Amino acid sequence: MKAAVVNKDHSVDVVEKTLRALEHGEALLQMECCGVCHTDLHVKNGDFGDKTGVILGHEGIGIVKKIGPGVTALKVGDRASVAWFFKGCGHCEYCTTGNETLCRQVVNAGYTADGGMAEECIVSADYAVKVPDGLESAAASSVTCAGVTTYKAVKVSGIQPGKWIAIYGLGGLGNLALQYAKNVFNAKVIAIDVNDLQLEFAAEMGADLTINMLKDDAAKIIQEKVGGAHAAVVTATAKSAFNSAVDAMRAGGRIVAVGLPPESMSLNIPRLVLDGIQVVGSLVGTREDLAEAFQFAAEGKVVPKVTKRPLGDINAIFREMEQGKIKGRMVIDFTHK
Ligand SMILES: [Zn+2]
Ligand SMILES: [Zn+2]
Repeated sequence: MKAAVVNKDHSVDVVEKTLRALEHGEALLQMECCGVCHTDLHVKNGDFGDKTGVILGHEGIGIVKKIGPGVTALKVGDRASVAWFFKGCGHCEYCTTGNETLCRQVVNAGYTADGGMAEECIVSADYAVKVPDGLESAAASSVTCAGVTTYKAVKVSGIQPGKWIAIYGLGGLGNLALQYAKNVFNAKVIAIDVNDLQLEFAAEMGADLTINMLKDDAAKIIQEKVGGAHAAVVTATAKSAFNSAVDAMRAGGRIVAVGLPPESMSLNIPRLVLDGIQVVGSLVGTREDLAEAFQFAAEGKVVPKVTKRPLGDINAIFREMEQGKIKGRMVIDFTHK
């Protein structure tokens, strides 16, 4: 079977590979598609350490072709995911309290385990989340990473129906956060970005208020127009977005960090103390979060923007990503040879 494997020179080779036999609790997926993520770019470039030889891919959707001994969670013919949260230890304080993504022994697909950017992939059956009928595989692949990450972040924000949530950064992640906030949590959404085109798109998707941070003081407008936001999800990677979010909160508000800025933010601590503002981080989502995120997408409440590409395009896709040319998600399609 063909697989996208990381090379020593930071390129990706499409190579012929033979997978080992299935062990206890494992299943073999015949991959249908796998999205290409910025994280894959970091892995292939060795930004998180040398990963030569690993098969990339943590936004994979495949059909169960074979099950190993002891598998009860999946059967042949099921459609299931290959996600960044690939496997936890199953017995630590995080795994047993609904915080499995924080497991210290976590295994990540396309990083510490061979991932889904291949014609076949071995998964731990208990950790591969089933995809509901009615959700197309390419759309599901996007939910496996960007979708569940933003769904979980909105969930962690604690936003209530009819209350105001500020979303900083309306790119691939922010656009999905907007759809989950609006269509699942029934919140009022303020979209903040530095790009007018992204903001126009956000307005079309139902944002109640849009603000261009380069032209206007977002926090000031939010305080004046709605009395401050109840919550914020920051997918932007600029420090200014985090600082603005703190100023945009009403008392008791909660800011959820999703983006990974290279610099530290300067927190106004008296503001946190006097107004009870919370700042928390949120990392991908648990299996249950993913199952919920899939279901809402299957119901048409969230529609990821995807473009299907052949496996041979992989290095071209990474070049386009580095040049900032990609809109929506590029998804490798294994169903058309
Ligand atoms: Zn991803
Ligand atoms: Zn654990």
